[in-house]
Amino acid sequence: MDKIFIDRLALYGRHGVMAEENALGQMFYISAELGLDLRGAGKSDSLDKTLDYGECCRVIKRICENNTYKLIETLAENIADELLRMSTAVKTVKVRVDKPSAPVGLPLESVGIEIERRRHTAYIALGSNMGDKEAYLKKAVAEMNADKNCNVLRVSDFIMTAPVSDIPQDDYLNGVMAVETLYTPEELLACVNAIEARADRVRKEKWGPRTLDLDIIFYDDLVIRTEKLTVPHPLMHTRAFVLEPLCMIAPHAVHPVFGKSAAQLLAELDK
Ligand code: ATP
Ligand code: MG
Ligand code: MG
Repeated sequence: MDKIFIDRLALYGRHGVMAEENALGQMFYISAELGLDLRGAGKSDSLDKTLDYGECCRVIKRICENNTYKLIETLAENIADELLRMSTAVKTVKVRVDKPSAPVGLPLESVGIEIERRRHTAYIALGSNMGDKEAYLKKAVAEMNADKNCNVLRVSDFIMTAPVSDIPQDDYLNGVMAVETLYTPEELLACVNAIEARADRVRKEKWGPRTLDLDIIFYDDLVIRTEKLTVPHPLMHTRAFVLEPLCMIAPHAVHPVFGKSAAQLLAELDK
């Protein structure tokens, strides 16, 4: 990928765990590398096809000078987040913070950290079978898009499906959305759980009726199996109510375990 880089922007800041550091301050040198496609800018010679590196420097300066963090980790994390939020064209960001006057009490040239953050693509299945189902799904999409760490890229049509459960309940309205996110998978789960909670989701019995269910189907091509989270969703390949709307927006999205596209999985299910 093409890159814009900023090398050792020199800034005064008050970050540190010691009180003197917060009071007196010291020099920080901040470097950043932004990954984005510069072809359009190179071909058109127009500034609006790229990111203004002067603007990037001013963002870094503002975060460094207007805050006092204990850790340079926090400083770097906030800079990375803000640089990624400057434009959806920015796909990756590397941030390096050097702190040459760190009070270590030993002779050294510099200490510092470097982090790399990126945009991720996740697919989220939506379902509702209580109350105003369409309103619940639409509100979930809007809330997701309003989150500063998420960008809804595409939303499928919503389809009516019969419940797959031993518990008698109303039909479902189902859909899938593609989301670009800065969240880790665990953070994304917390985010969708919070949206469910705001929709008055009550978990009584497994597979019981619900106002809103948001399940993470894919997160990039990651395979995750922890106590709280299984990605890809363990039942997605068996569920037409997930695969059908997924195929409307991403028929070529590949299941990282089976190595099959959403369209292939749906065709196999239909058989
Ligand atoms: P199903 O997962 O079979 O669709 P459900 O959606 O009704 O069932 P929930 O009650 O919504 O189940 O979720 C139960 C738990 O599943 C959640 O607390 C969450 O920690 C966990 N979970 C594991 N993997 C995922 C995932 N990929 N997406 C959402 N939740 C997940
Ligand atoms: Mg579910
Ligand atoms: Mg769920």
